[in-house]
Amino acid sequence: MNAVGDCLFCKIAASQIPAKVVHADEELVAFEDISPQAPMHLLIIPVKHVSGVGHLAEAHDALMGRAMRLAAKLAADRGFGESGYRIIVNSGPDAGQSVPHLHLHVMAGRPFGWPAG
Ligand code: AMP
Ligand code: ZN
Repeated sequence: MNAVGDCLFCKIAASQIPAKVVHADEELVAFEDISPQAPMHLLIIPVKHVSGVGHLAEAHDALMGRAMRLAAKLAADRGFGESGYRIIVNSGPDAGQSVPHLHLHVMAGRPFGWPAG
C-alpha cells in the first residue's frame, strides 16, 4: 500500500497538490480529470488509499455504494441525469490503469461507443 508521500491521489485527497475539487467529505473526494476525455470528466477517489478494485475488502462495501451514488448525483447535478453518463474503473495494465489509487471515472457530455475501446 502506498503512503500519502508517494501516491498522487493520496496527495490530492490531502490537499498536498492542487486539483479542481468538486466534492469532498470524510470518505470521498471528487475532482476534475486533468486530461478530460469528455465535456464532463470527473474522478471519485476514496480518501483512504486503496490500490484498486482488486484490493477492496468487505469493509469498503458501503463506501463503494456511496461512491456510485455520488457519481450519479454529480452527473445529474450537471444536467446529465437523462442524457446519460459513463462510470469507468480501470484495473491493471490491460485496462489502462495508470494511477494505483482506486478511482471512478465519471464522464458525460458526448456519446460513448460500446464496447469500450
Ligand atoms: P487511469 O488511467 O484509469 O488510472 O486514470 C487516471 C486518470 O488520472 C487519468 O484520466 C489522468 O488524466 C488523471 N490524472 C492524472 N494526474 C492527475 C492530476 N494531477 N489531477 C487530475 N487528474 C489526474
Ligand atoms: Zn493513494
